[in-house]
Amino acid sequence: MSYRPEKRIHLCLAHMSGKEQDYIKEAFDTNWVVPLGPNVNAFEESIREYVGHGEVAALCSGTASIHLALKCLGVGPGDEVIVQTFTFCASSNPVLYLGATPVFVDSEKDTWNMDPVLLEEAIKDRKVKTGNYPKAIITVALFGMPPKMKEIVAVAEKYGIAIVEDAAEAMGSKYDGKYLGTFGLYGVLSFNGNKMITTSGGGALICPDEKAKQRVMYYATQAREPFPYYQHTEIGYNYRMSNICAGIGRGQMLVLEEHVAHHRKVQSMYAELLAKVKGITVHKQPEGGLFDSNYWLVTIIVDPKIKIKGQYEVADKAHLSGEPNINVEALRLFLDRANVESRSTWKPLHLQPVNAKCPVYVNGVSENLFKKTLCLPAGPYVSEEDVKYIVDKIKEAIC
Ligand SMILES: *Cc1c(COP(=O)(O)O)cnc(C)c1O
Repeated sequence: MSYRPEKRIHLCLAHMSGKEQDYIKEAFDTNWVVPLGPNVNAFEESIREYVGHGEVAALCSGTASIHLALKCLGVGPGDEVIVQTFTFCASSNPVLYLGATPVFVDSEKDTWNMDPVLLEEAIKDRKVKTGNYPKAIITVALFGMPPKMKEIVAVAEKYGIAIVEDAAEAMGSKYDGKYLGTFGLYGVLSFNGNKMITTSGGGALICPDEKAKQRVMYYATQAREPFPYYQHTEIGYNYRMSNICAGIGRGQMLVLEEHVAHHRKVQSMYAELLAKVKGITVHKQPEGGLFDSNYWLVTIIVDPKIKIKGQYEVADKAHLSGEPNINVEALRLFLDRANVESRSTWKPLHLQPVNAKCPVYVNGVSENLFKKTLCLPAGPYVSEEDVKYIVDKIKEAIC
């Protein structure tokens, strides 16, 4: 009998250490059921120790963390912010919340992250076109893969532009021996339900120092000023993390390393088992020791020339024009019927209707990758048997 998973195999499900409920119980027992308290302080401290850098502000989401990083950098109406185009909408939406304009920059094909050469071209061209340099650069570590940070930091420093690192998918990933989230002036983590660790929903901003953290917390607390009554000179937000959620986070820190090791193991299994399958390429980090991805999700490139069972039915659906290739969509549906969740990679943000008016600097890499790539399950509940099963299903799907 061949192996059949008992349940649907998901991309990345939340997985608990078992200690989470103890911290939550402590919060209830001491009535710290508010957006501050011992769990928040201890969670922030454990992240700070883990990344070994700066100060950490726990917030209600990764998106809120990007928003406040930009707010602290003084981004406002009329400003431009460079954002990697190959990413989730949360990387650029906060730019729009602030009335500023995202300028989208394409990826290079090794890491699928921001192309440092194109980044510099974009910076120079914005100066010519608007008279100003962009206010910030938002880099992204797509599916956990570190960007070419050395080159990107060199460009940012040359023009004196601050980096906000969107490491929402990259907790535990390293570049040149250092954790992602510690290369920019600010680093963003997410603890949404499907990320490396979860607080059910939440995020953190890695700040350069205590003063910067205080500024972040001021904006996260409705810009309340130190008066005996409620005094506000600026507009703030309600963005703090609940002490209950932080309790989950404390428990999750106990399994973070285990999660990272698991994702890497799963990636190496896919790479090995799919190595000889024609038309399927597992995306790998560049060699040479600089890159150490957490492989939050494993991604494959599907050769447009291979045929997948059922792809002609998919082709009938006109809505797919300009979207993932029909063989990619057919493979997704084939896996779905085998009870395996897979998902196309992020549709580049410069192709999203909501961003139609934003300036773009593209080289075709992200559009091309979006059409022919698929994300495969890699979370803590994906077993070795599951990986073998998924690989068998992929082989079965190819005509
Ligand atoms: C998940 C994610 C975010 C947003 O984090 P939330 O905690 O869901 O707000 C931002 N950027 C990227 C690349 C993400 O994947």
